[in-house]
Amino acid sequence: METISKTINSSVSKVIIIGGGIGGLTLALACLDIGLEVELYEKRDLETMLGGPGGIFIQRNAMKVYKLLANGKIYEEFYKYGGKILTGGFFNHQAKPLYINSPEFVGETDLGVCLMRSQIQQILYNALPPSTVKTGLAFQSFQATDHGIKVYFQDGTTTTGDILVGADGIYSKVRASLHGQERLEDPIYSGMCCWRGSFDGANLPLNPEYSWMELWGKGNRFGYFHVGGGKFSFYGFTNSQPGENDESVGGPLAALQTIFSAYGEPVPSIIAALDPKSIYRDDIFDRESLGHTWGKGRVTLIGDAAHPVQPTLGQGGCMAIEDAFELAKLLATVTSQEQVSSVLRQFESDRHPRVTKVLNVSRSVGSLAQTDSNIGCLFRNLIYQLTPTWLADQQFKWLFDYNPTWN
Ligand SMILES: Cc1cc2nc3c(=O)[nH]c(=O)nc-3n(C[C@H](O)[C@H](O)[C@H](O)COP(=O)(O)OP(=O)(O)OC[C@H]3O[C@@H](n4cnc5c(N)ncnc54)[C@H](O)[C@@H]3O)c2cc1C
Repeated sequence: METISKTINSSVSKVIIIGGGIGGLTLALACLDIGLEVELYEKRDLETMLGGPGGIFIQRNAMKVYKLLANGKIYEEFYKYGGKILTGGFFNHQAKPLYINSPEFVGETDLGVCLMRSQIQQILYNALPPSTVKTGLAFQSFQATDHGIKVYFQDGTTTTGDILVGADGIYSKVRASLHGQERLEDPIYSGMCCWRGSFDGANLPLNPEYSWMELWGKGNRFGYFHVGGGKFSFYGFTNSQPGENDESVGGPLAALQTIFSAYGEPVPSIIAALDPKSIYRDDIFDRESLGHTWGKGRVTLIGDAAHPVQPTLGQGGCMAIEDAFELAKLLATVTSQEQVSSVLRQFESDRHPRVTKVLNVSRSVGSLAQTDSNIGCLFRNLIYQLTPTWLADQQFKWLFDYNPTWN
């Protein structure tokens, strides 16, 4: 396992991170690995920060980053508590295979690991010294000073550092502040909403051949994956208007039962086993690409703050993880204060092609999966069924060819 072996003499000494999601916590770990001082500020309280809905698939590309961080401790913990993803794929609504994907495709023994989001947050947080994360402090604005950045929080607290990183999600206040805005303009509605939650796999008719399945219907789809210890996370998407909720149809369980009524097993049994209190519903959004430049001066962005994507490929969090590593790696190369700004712009322009491809492919696979005409569904399913696996694999291969290294 390659981990960094020495502390780097970077001219950056202190990094201020806003946001304690997957991206911010991973960046904090990567910066500490190269000997930088880090302060991470999160607006929510610790308990809420360590929560969050549903499960997350940390795919092989992002797992390669964790292999390098914190002496491989997070990598090991993810395997210890999470569910290894082996064979799985896309199916029609009656669970007939359309495209099956297996670990050989990425040249590994698995495709990655799935965990509940709360478990991921807890593992990342536990790997940090407790003083790194300061909760209950909401970023308000920043000011460039002669040799750094001064950050202001809503309660009047301030701090200073060499660089500021906005890892504060799709409604990023850091991104808004970069353009002198109080708040960002609304993101782009994808045309669909998503329910997610978890269930116990015992006594359900799950096919043991597959550790994840996604079944495609007409204008909707239902998926689940193993998140460790016999527990599974599910998600269900349907085409909908923004701002709709389940109240008029009798709650989330009734909504799921109606929308997925034509689906074959295991979907009806999974829905019947759900605890309605643990089901979250969200509208799904992304934003147009920011292009090659995301920040300004000593301020940059990572993860959803820079490039939120639809969750079709399950790569939004993985891109935040890659960003975190690539940014820390470049910070290690800064040899003078004058270089700081150009290194941040280099980071942004290096990452731009890959994250923009994820944005675009997530949109196109999403609209294919959410097709809502009979003929469209027939055509979509036929194409997936008739395409040889090796050819279908090619469309995703570029994602897994990512090979992070400290060198
Ligand atoms: C239904 C669904 C399923 C998904 N499945 C997957 C998957 O399987 N795999 C995957 O890789 N990705 C998945 N994603 C995407 C993933 O959830 C996001 O891309 C990821 O959480 C982004 O991480 P982040 O750290 O950039 O931002 P966030 O997770 O949004 O974290 C931002 C943090 O900043 C904090 N914050 C916000 N404003 C302020 C402020 N002013 N001051 C201080 N703190 C602030 C927030 O409280 C939050 O803690 C999914 C998304 C959805 C919606």
